[in-house]
Amino acid sequence: MATYAAPGRPGSVVSFWPRYDHFIGGEYVPPARGGYFENPTPITGETFTEIARGTAEDVDYAVHAAEGAAAAWGHRPPAERALLLNRIADRIEQNLEALAVAETWENGKPVRESLAADIPLAADHFRYFAGAIRAQEGMISQLDADTVAYHFHEPLGVVGQIIPWNFPILMAAWKLAPALAAGNTVVLKPAEQTPASIHVLIGLVADLLPPGVVNVVNGFGVEAGAPLARHDRVRKVAFTGETTTGRLIMQYASENIVPVTLELGGKSPNVFFADVAAARDAFYDKAQEGFAMFALNQGEVCTCPSRALIQSSIYNDFLDDGIARVEGIVQGHPLDTRTMIGAQASNDQLEKILSYIDIGRKEGAKILTGGERADLGGELSGGYYIRPTVFEGHNKMRIFQEEIFGPVVSVTRFDDYADAIKIANDTLYGLGAAVWSRDLNTAHRAGQEIQAGRVWTNCYHVYPAHAAFGGYKQSGMGRENHKMMLDHYQQTKNLLVSYSEHAQGLF
Ligand code: NAD
Repeated sequence: MATYAAPGRPGSVVSFWPRYDHFIGGEYVPPARGGYFENPTPITGETFTEIARGTAEDVDYAVHAAEGAAAAWGHRPPAERALLLNRIADRIEQNLEALAVAETWENGKPVRESLAADIPLAADHFRYFAGAIRAQEGMISQLDADTVAYHFHEPLGVVGQIIPWNFPILMAAWKLAPALAAGNTVVLKPAEQTPASIHVLIGLVADLLPPGVVNVVNGFGVEAGAPLARHDRVRKVAFTGETTTGRLIMQYASENIVPVTLELGGKSPNVFFADVAAARDAFYDKAQEGFAMFALNQGEVCTCPSRALIQSSIYNDFLDDGIARVEGIVQGHPLDTRTMIGAQASNDQLEKILSYIDIGRKEGAKILTGGERADLGGELSGGYYIRPTVFEGHNKMRIFQEEIFGPVVSVTRFDDYADAIKIANDTLYGLGAAVWSRDLNTAHRAGQEIQAGRVWTNCYHVYPAHAAFGGYKQSGMGRENHKMMLDHYQQTKNLLVSYSEHAQGLF
């Protein structure tokens, strides 16, 4: 067993098993075809565990287990389902430090982020939906004195969920909590880059879960994800990942006419109006931090503020200060709590980002800082580190239009309000955005006009469970978080009842 901890934090010890099978029907089940794949940590590049390589047979077995558990779980009263969700939240909180280290070791993100944000937010997500399901009410419409329409919320049945690698435990929580609260059973497919942290979480709560209610099938997209998304007994598909994959998921789900929720990519504008520089005060400092937010989680965030739009009249000074801020970001061992930026999640991702840095250079964009792989020495030399990178260019360049998913920001200027909105909306995506201004009228208006599902005003990267999250345009469909999310995991049963003794008078 490989054991890791954050230095100086004895509560943070996590042990990974040498091998993870699937978790189906409350048991660990080896892969039907016997295959396993290696799972490296991006921190050093070394393999630390191996993972069952799921195929259609495993998916089918898991759907069967989920189906077997669906009726009993779906009929449990909301208060009982809420109790399970709260118990899961308790376990997450009791093991917060170990889960944070598990996620950091597998994903490469700084442990200070996993400790402060990812894991507490995951726990809160279960608590929020525990409350939301208890507060949910049915609806009664009186049609006339003797006729009443009752509307009941019913679960959908077996839900297939496919998640990415950038926030493994939080993405699992975003999917599992509302689905379970609504009374569904789940087959979850983690990303092939980060399945072990999901299994650490499952291992902590396995004794709480009725068998078959949550099932995890590991594996690759085409081999395990696609059979799940097109399985004829799956009643809904919830997906988070790339826009190109999202298109395929929609096609798969259409084979069985089942609903999909798609949380896809982004190219989020971060708009700084001139008045942010009216004084060099705390607000200015906050806006500068907002500029540097593209480096959070190594830029591997769907809402990464990867396009910075700065008003011309403050452009040079604001950008100079912003670059200094970026150069102050501490890069180091992700398990060191002083580290602010860690490793990219995989070698493929590292290479993708480096290739975009190359594309930016060839397009004629100017690198103002960064622009290269970082060799942090010692055991970290084999890890996947990139210096936070600031490009200057214009919005038609590929580095402004395509999702890089790394610590790279593309900066351009705008002249006036109309120009800002035009550039902000000149993208296929519409997931996140931010507006920075001391003038809340301007900020409000811009927030309304920018085509994105989430527009932050004077802040960034805040993800509470009770604020709706999701994409406009090619960033997806449906919403996550907020109690409205329950609608995506339920269907409505209408009972239309006549209390009259008289015939309807038709025949
Ligand atoms: P990806 O689409 O490559 O993979 C995501 C998941 O889909 C993985 O589990 C993968 O195995 C699976 N998959 C891949 N091909 C599949 C197929 N043909 N059929 C079924 N499943 C398949 O995305 P990624 O690189 O893992 O994640 C990064 C992307 O996720 C970025 O585009 C990012 O913006 C997006 N993302 C979006 C949100 C959001 O809420 N909108 C949140 C996090 C990440």
